[in-house]
Amino acid sequence: MSVFIDFDQAVYPFPPKPASLDADQKAFYRERIKALLVEKNAVIVAHYYTDPEIQALAEETGGCVADSLEMARFGARHHASTLLVAGVRFMGETAKILSPEKNVLMPTLDAQCSLDIGCPDEEFARFCDAHPDRTVVVYANTSAAVKARADWVVTSSIAVELIEHLDSLGEKIIWAPDKHLGRYVQQQTGADILCWQGACIVHDEFKTQSLEKMKAMYPDAAVLVHPESPQAIVDLADAVGSTSQLIKAAQNLPNPSMIVATDKGIFYKMQQACPDKALYIAPTAGEGATCRTCAHCPWMAMNGLQAIAAALEGDDVTHQIHVSEQLREKAMQPLNKMLKFAESLK
Ligand code: SF4
Repeated sequence: MSVFIDFDQAVYPFPPKPASLDADQKAFYRERIKALLVEKNAVIVAHYYTDPEIQALAEETGGCVADSLEMARFGARHHASTLLVAGVRFMGETAKILSPEKNVLMPTLDAQCSLDIGCPDEEFARFCDAHPDRTVVVYANTSAAVKARADWVVTSSIAVELIEHLDSLGEKIIWAPDKHLGRYVQQQTGADILCWQGACIVHDEFKTQSLEKMKAMYPDAAVLVHPESPQAIVDLADAVGSTSQLIKAAQNLPNPSMIVATDKGIFYKMQQACPDKALYIAPTAGEGATCRTCAHCPWMAMNGLQAIAAALEGDDVTHQIHVSEQLREKAMQPLNKMLKFAESLK
């Protein structure tokens, strides 16, 4: 399909890493942020893939550390007037769509996502227009404009259930943007899915042969895989699931150790969930490896302490998320459908 972005050719201008801070500077910024959160009636809503010190600070200050579905829910129901979203831009946009009355700040608006970048709204709209008989389901990792074009938004934690539901109604699906998750969902449900060809730069880098070698080195370890990973990696998994589901699997599986194929930021909460188990990062090195990310999203890594303090200090132009009311109203409909569907599964 000519409208697809050729992911293999896509070039992502990786952002600079935040300046590294010494222990005194970190302590200074942590205290400054705590004071600003109180002063601004703000709360930190952080993703599992942010750095451990950001997740710890979110927990310490009454915020949340979660997957994108729970981040959206938490932000919408929390009484704070300001949400400081530590994650990537689509997460800030989702928070603003669901909580228009709140001030939504991000440490940096340059924190992108390869799935979002790889699914430009105008091209995607043309693709959808070319297949008017299909229900459009987009992953949460998309811009507000792409969500506005969709019938449903979905996260990886409920993707299989939603597609099963739509398939049972006889609906044919357009899935975007992640090709690996789309393929996984198609295999699990047997649904008729036409898939956009985006990919996550982190999960796309896990290497099969190196993972097989690692399994041989740690025969007692279970392999946990996020379904944004390539098929050959999913085939080696003992458990496949969203970030929250992988944390639960680490807790529930009897194995003493886990090899984990997702962003290593997850280790903070996974280790809390099973403190006695050893956790290993699945290999990103091996034949054909570029290791551009080495299992840590470069955009998630932009959420440093200094940037959080700057966002809360009130420089609105560079930190505040804006979504036009017209776009917000359109994007809210598929998001609300997702939230209601997720509720119905509980
Ligand atoms: S880890 Fe992948 S899917 Fe998640 S924000 Fe980074 S690029 Fe996007």
